Order: sequence, then structure tokens, then C-alpha cells
Amino acid sequence: MKIVDKILKAEEENRPYWSFEYFPPKTQQGVVNLYDRIGRMYNLGPLFIDVTWRWGGKSSDLTLEICSTSQSVYGLEANMHMTCTNTSFKLIKRALAVAKENGIQNILALRGDLPDGSTEFDPEEGEFRYASDLVKYIRKQYGDYFCISVAGYPEGCSSPDDVEKDIQYLKEKIDAGADLVVTQLFYDVDLFVDWVKRCRDAGIKAPILPGIMPIQNYNGFKRMTDLCRIKVPQEIWDNLEDIKDDDQAVKNYGIKVAVDMIKKLRANGIIGTHFYTLNLERSTQMILEELNYIPDLEAIRPLPWAQSISDKRS
Ligand code: FAD
Repeated sequence: MKIVDKILKAEEENRPYWSFEYFPPKTQQGVVNLYDRIGRMYNLGPLFIDVTWRWGGKSSDLTLEICSTSQSVYGLEANMHMTCTNTSFKLIKRALAVAKENGIQNILALRGDLPDGSTEFDPEEGEFRYASDLVKYIRKQYGDYFCISVAGYPEGCSSPDDVEKDIQYLKEKIDAGADLVVTQLFYDVDLFVDWVKRCRDAGIKAPILPGIMPIQNYNGFKRMTDLCRIKVPQEIWDNLEDIKDDDQAVKNYGIKVAVDMIKKLRANGIIGTHFYTLNLERSTQMILEELNYIPDLEAIRPLPWAQSISDKRS
């Protein structure tokens, strides 16, 4: 099923909804653990899950496998990421065909980062330059079969000075046939709400799903927000200062920050949340619990068939 249809239904009913992003682990044991986790987190009621695609398509088979297994074994709708630069056209063509064969109906179409932080990219004949080219290609080859999501950047993709230009490029991706927007992580809700308004003013009507990354530890948080050039309100840095060496205290504070953000987003009419889980479950579970979004906590247990999957892989 297309995730945009699920989202539009939840929006129509004003029913909060959430999705979980996972990345393909690098080891066999990591994959086993991830399947167990996806099985347990099934009970947290995500509307769908996302699986990332490692730079240059290096994880394409595993990304496909995790998406396909999540759908066939866990009954979770999967949104498969796909980047188009530094990835051969042949691989993209094949991955789309295999996705369709496996009943995957949702693709997050991305450009992907450029090698060594470069800003320019010269595609070979027939290759893609921007995510919008991949969106056009998917629409041309597959018509309406896939629901296509694209990335949005409340603080600009490469620089905060480019926000306005990036909104125009986001509109181009929607006009090329994308159905919804999933955003980069952020911590300043006022900035996000203002950006959504600017997107709407620019004529972007598609659902916009805010990306929330619960803070897991101080160094990781600092590294990630520096890397993605994310503005962190001073109050968050101040509150982290005294607890930064205590991982558990940082995690607990991260839960509070996310809960407050989601409540504030909801007060502004934004009821969806896309969790960057980092393949971890506790913070996401606690956040949903704090928000009273999970009706029956007793139900949180591995699915009976989830165990057999991990047995098979180990
Ligand atoms: P685009 O939308 O193509 O934009 C790229 C740059 O080109 C921007 O600076 C934009 O301003 C500019 N641009 C766009 N169109 C034009 C145009 N017509 N003319 C001139 N300039 C233009 N990376 C991975 O490797 N794997 C993943 O699984 C992954 N998942 C992600 C999920 C989300 C939700 C997000 C927000 C990012 C993800 N990324 C992932 C990172 C992403 O690949 C990088 O941020 C990448 O640099 C930009 O990808 P894009 O699809 O936004 O590119």
C-alpha cells in the first residue's frame, strides 16, 4: 500500500501517526538484531518504516531484503531509500524492478551525498544529476505504481543561505511526481513551522513529515548536528552541559526534548513524526509512551514469527 494514502487518512482523521527509520547493519549479527528489533517495534504501531540505502548503492541488496522482509513477515509497509549519484544506472534499474517484484510500493528518491564533500557533480550520459531526475525516471518507467517521497531541508541542504532556493527545488521534485516530503532532522520547532509555512506559500501541498532524532549521547549528538549543520537552541546545549558525561541522563533528556517538540508540532497542526531511530528502540518507545500514543504496553513483545526469522539468519 502507498504510505501517502495512509498518511492522508490519518491526517483526515486528525490521528497522530509515526514512522521509524532504520539503516542496514554492517554485520550478519547486526542484521539478526535489527530483525528482532523491528519485530518488537512493530508493537509500537508505526504507520510505516524506512530503510536507508548506503552511499553509492553499497547496501542495495540488504536494503531491499530488509524492506521486503519487513513487509512479508511483519506486515509493515516499507519505504525504501534510493540514491542516484555515484550509483550505476543498471543498479537503480534493477533495484526498482526487484522492489516491484517484492511488492515494495514506496521509494524515498534521493540524490545522495557527493564524494569527498564536493559540491559539483558531472553525471555521465544517462545518469542522474538531482533527485528530481530520479523522481521523473521512476514516474516515466512505473507510472503511478510507486509512492515517491523526497527529502526536505528546513535549514537548507548545503547552507542556511539556500533555504529559499531549496524550497523551489523541493517544489520541482513534487512537480516531477513526488507524493510527500520527509525532512532532515531539526531541533528548533519555530524554525520548522515557519519553513512549512514557506513551503505551503510556495505551492507545496504534499504532506511534510518532520524528522525527529532523539538525542542518544552527547558526542554523537554534537557530531551529527555539526555534520548536518543543524541549529540547536542554546537552551538544549545549556541543559546538556551538566549531564554530558552521563549517557543515561542524556538519553532521558533527549526523550524530554523530543516529547516537547512533538507536542509543540502538534499544537501547530503537525501530527506526523518520522523517527530517526539509529536502530535503537528504547528512546522511541519511551517518547511514544510519554505521549500516550501506545494503547497497550503489555503488547510489547517479539512477534512469534520474528524469532524464527532471527533463528534462520544466525
Ligand atoms: P536534491 O534534491 O537533488 O538536492 C541536492 C542539491 O542540489 C541541493 O543543494 C539542491 O539545492 C540542489 N538542486 C536540486 N535541484 C536543483 C536544480 N534543478 N538546479 C540546481 N540545483 C539543484 N543519503 C544516503 O546516502 N542514503 C540515504 O538513505 C539517505 N536518506 C536520507 C533521508 C532523508 C529524509 C534526508 C533528508 C536525507 C537523506 N540522505 C541519504 C542524504 C541525502 O542523500 C543528501 O542530503 C544529499 O546531499 C541530497 O539529497 P537530495 O535528494 O535532497 O538532493
